[in-house]
Amino acid sequence: MRPTLVVLNAGSSSLKFQVFDRLDDVDPKVVWKGQYEGLGQRARFRVARDTAAIVDEAQWAAEEGVDHEFALMHLVTWLQQYRNERKLVAIGHRVVHGGDAYAAPVLVDDEVVARLETLSPLAPLHQPHNLQPIAIARRRIPDVPQVACFDTAFHHNQTEIATMYALPKDIRDRGVRRYGFHGLSYDYIASVLEDTDPRLASGRVVAAHLGNGASLCALSGGVSLATTMGFSALDGLPMGTRCGAIDASVVFYMLREMGHTAEEAERVLYTQSGLLGVSGLSNDMRTLRREAPSNADARKAIDLFVYRIIRETGSLIAVLGGIDGLIFTAGIGENDAATRAAVVAGLSWTGLTLDEAANTAGGPRISSSASPSAWVIPTNEELVIARQTRDVINAARHSV
Ligand code: AMP
Repeated sequence: MRPTLVVLNAGSSSLKFQVFDRLDDVDPKVVWKGQYEGLGQRARFRVARDTAAIVDEAQWAAEEGVDHEFALMHLVTWLQQYRNERKLVAIGHRVVHGGDAYAAPVLVDDEVVARLETLSPLAPLHQPHNLQPIAIARRRIPDVPQVACFDTAFHHNQTEIATMYALPKDIRDRGVRRYGFHGLSYDYIASVLEDTDPRLASGRVVAAHLGNGASLCALSGGVSLATTMGFSALDGLPMGTRCGAIDASVVFYMLREMGHTAEEAERVLYTQSGLLGVSGLSNDMRTLRREAPSNADARKAIDLFVYRIIRETGSLIAVLGGIDGLIFTAGIGENDAATRAAVVAGLSWTGLTLDEAANTAGGPRISSSASPSAWVIPTNEELVIARQTRDVINAARHSV
């Protein structure tokens, strides 16, 4: 039986998974990638080989009530029935919030679950969904160890000052501080700096995770010093549908003068703002690029996105005391050459210059300057979860 682990990333109506084996290698090897979508409605299952060839699909009518529990057990059965030479040794879960308690991934037990549930009010749109498959798996397949891997943990060693808000103590004592997110992505970037350019592994790097969610992280010697997301994943850069940093008084204005409830204001800031809100068109950068030549609002959305990246990168360069490298990653960072070119142009005062041909070709190195240098590195959060899960279960085994 080949030891195999599953990485899960659960959303409100989706369950994304990747299946890994070769757990004794430095990096576990991904075998299948797939997802369940439309859970609670018309659910679909699709799984592909690492090579992207679809190996199985299924679809259910809305009346069949396919939910997260059905999906998880369907996946376990799929692995057992159709790939029965494998032994499921662990499940690694993406969990958005580890709070103050968790600076590293953790083997899930009753106490861990109880603590993680107390963090749901800090990330109400993500944490409950992330915890749901943990509860299901503990009930339905209690013999399989579960490991929680956190988006916040990578930023855990930032200084108190870097994570503080200037708020009264009684509010700060309730955990109101900057946490930072996208930590699994930055962990991956930090782990490949040595191979990318050894000078960056020990140097001052700004990593730009530019996807539907977007943030920047200042890395010094591969360690997070500061990041643009704060108490929640709403802070910092404008995103696909999230507003990024705004004056907190805007919320009071929406509540008092515009008659929004707190829930309505939250929905506007999380789901109707950012690229979508400014363009009035789409949260998808591909659509905005296509429409920009004839649509001023699409151009404005892109211009604001780029402007804010440049401004916030300047702030992180100040924290680092200079910059040796700039890394682009995630959907926009990896694929949108025009965004990368505009950001590099806005940072020309650092000595950064673009290699246009390399940028158009997608990198990996897109700067003509040796230092600072700019790179495109595709992120791989699932691999980080697989590494962490493997390491946690190995450590637990050795400590018994
Ligand atoms: P992610 O959240 O990392 O999956 O990134 C999603 C974002 O990446 C969306 O705004 C997409 O429009 C953008 N994206 C994906 N592929 C491309 C592409 N080829 N060109 C420009 N943007 C892209």
